[in-house]
Amino acid sequence: DGDSYGVLPRPCRALVLLNPQSGSGRALDDFQAVVQPMLAEAEIATTIFITERPHHAHEKVRDEDLSQWDTLVVMSGDGLLYEVVNGLMERPDWKDTMKKPLCILPGGSGNALAASINYYAGYDHVAKKKLLTNCTFILCKGLHTQMDLVSLSTASGKRFFSFLGFGWGFISDVDIDSEKYRWLGSARFTLGTLQCLAKLRVYQGRLSYLPAGPEQGTSPAPRDPSTPVPNGQAGHVLPPAGTDAPGSLPTDSLLAPLGQPVPAHWTVVPEEEFVLVYAIYQSHLGTNLLMAPAARLHDGCIHLFYMKAGISRVALLKLFLAMSRGTHLDLNCPHLCYVPVQAFRLEPRVAAGIMTVDGEALACEPVQGQIHGRLCRVVSG
Ligand code: ADP
Ligand code: MG
Repeated sequence: DGDSYGVLPRPCRALVLLNPQSGSGRALDDFQAVVQPMLAEAEIATTIFITERPHHAHEKVRDEDLSQWDTLVVMSGDGLLYEVVNGLMERPDWKDTMKKPLCILPGGSGNALAASINYYAGYDHVAKKKLLTNCTFILCKGLHTQMDLVSLSTASGKRFFSFLGFGWGFISDVDIDSEKYRWLGSARFTLGTLQCLAKLRVYQGRLSYLPAGPEQGTSPAPRDPSTPVPNGQAGHVLPPAGTDAPGSLPTDSLLAPLGQPVPAHWTVVPEEEFVLVYAIYQSHLGTNLLMAPAARLHDGCIHLFYMKAGISRVALLKLFLAMSRGTHLDLNCPHLCYVPVQAFRLEPRVAAGIMTVDGEALACEPVQGQIHGRLCRVVSG
């Protein structure tokens, strides 16, 4: 799919959306010290937009004329890019505007997409200033390609576009509980993980999914031997692009309404007690969490992980330590299941536990989502 690649023009005009509060609060200093000198050499002119509050970037990219910019750069964590993606999708001209390459420069404490792009580019695993330098270098080169998004809908009628992942249970609790340790930078997740291990809990609900077709992902076979065989034929093929009316948002053709049962050819997980459920579409869940080593920017696939209740704290800790190298599936832990899917549904039995979308908290309620291949573009190595 070589035709999916493009390159930024030179000179290049970049709008930089920067959250001064992200990470440990040094995004603006780092931008001026590390990023700006490199971009100047590469003929990339920057205009900085400093966000003053949550939702500020969302409104900016939703409401303004963006035609003067060749790329929108987000210097923050994944949360600000999530705002930008959803703000862009609210524009009547979203279909054209989403062709504009986005770029993430890690300035936050959760920099999962930046870590994923660094990994896809074949660079060594790095964090902090080195990760920022690598991502800035990738921007200087200016190559961009398509990225899948996942459309998520909730029982209360909300709809989001997500580029990273949806989580429920253990990891999501870590993400949100550790907000109070923001000053620690990315170390907040390590501390949060240890704290959540201490009060390990079980989350009850029903998980269903539509397995990926043979053309998606790298290993369509479920890892969990106890997973039942779907009671129908293989999943639907994604509709070709351009089947929706102009201006209207892409339709979730694989999903049944949340009030109704999932389609008959979906798989329903028999267990209903989980430690975590995580649907991730990029390789990294955090700078030090390589959760889906096989994931790529536009592999057309949601990498669904779930951990069944009954796992010991020691086994869970081992899995998390292995996840820093991406070797957790090699441990063959019977509680950890992995399956590439096109769509999933999660129905929590009670509104307990925290749900996250791209690291941002979401009230706990039934949620379902499906992949939309190649819906946006990102700068990548
Ligand atoms: P981090 O990885 O450090 O959490 P994010 O980019 O995820 O960084 O940002 C966290 C949240 O901060 C986002 O939800 C964003 O809306 C919000 N935000 C953006 N600008 C500001 C600001 N000036 N003050 C406070 N919060 C902000
Ligand atoms: Mg964040």
